[in-house]
Amino acid sequence: MQDGQRKKRYRISDNILMGGLLVRLYDGNSNTDEVRMHDDNKNVIKAAHLISDEGMDHKVLKGSVRDILEAIGEDPERDGLLNTPERVSRMYEELLGGYRMDPVKMVNNAIFEVDYDQMVIVRDIEFYSMCEHHMLPFIGRAHVAYVPDGKVVGLSKIPRVVDMFARRLQVQERMTSQVADFLNELLHPRGVAVVIEALHLCSMMRGVKKHDARMTTSAVHGYFRTNMATRMEFLDNISRAAEPLHI
Ligand code: ZN
Repeated sequence: MQDGQRKKRYRISDNILMGGLLVRLYDGNSNTDEVRMHDDNKNVIKAAHLISDEGMDHKVLKGSVRDILEAIGEDPERDGLLNTPERVSRMYEELLGGYRMDPVKMVNNAIFEVDYDQMVIVRDIEFYSMCEHHMLPFIGRAHVAYVPDGKVVGLSKIPRVVDMFARRLQVQERMTSQVADFLNELLHPRGVAVVIEALHLCSMMRGVKKHDARMTTSAVHGYFRTNMATRMEFLDNISRAAEPLHI
């Protein structure tokens, strides 16, 4: 049996945040059904926008970092810089690892069929990304909501979806719609909404040096687009008791 078709029962440990409250879906006398992930994995993989080649070319990466050090007038042979190309190369593997994550593996044992059609909200998901214009970080938090149409995903998986799209060279607008589109493809919900707030180091450290370089972006589908009450419920929830972003 393939991973994508494995059956799994819903458990209490797979808590889900609904309408702002953490609730249990299963109380031991389950009336939820054994479920399986829908099998259109192809569309899910497509929505993950992966890079299909092998791993990163660390030889080229290391050489390039060394070239940059030389080009800015530094001495790549001095003690402090000697291992910098190696360190930066390994760091990119981690910071830009989202291009090569397997989205099906990531979520496939955490998709559950439930008879629940109220809003599911996961807010304040911390993330770290890299702006593609300057290759400097932008960091912030994402708020994700959806209205299920028979399927939900385990609470812990939503931050991993955000992470998959954050760990790339990004622009915040695209990252926001990629998260929304991916969840749309994964769950086929009645609606999905994503709001991302972030601070961009490229604006804070350089150019205009705006220390409050905060940006908010949103992407909505389905109910959140067509139904004002649904949208307001979401916005009201995420604005409640939110601390301002800071570094
Ligand atoms: Zn930038």
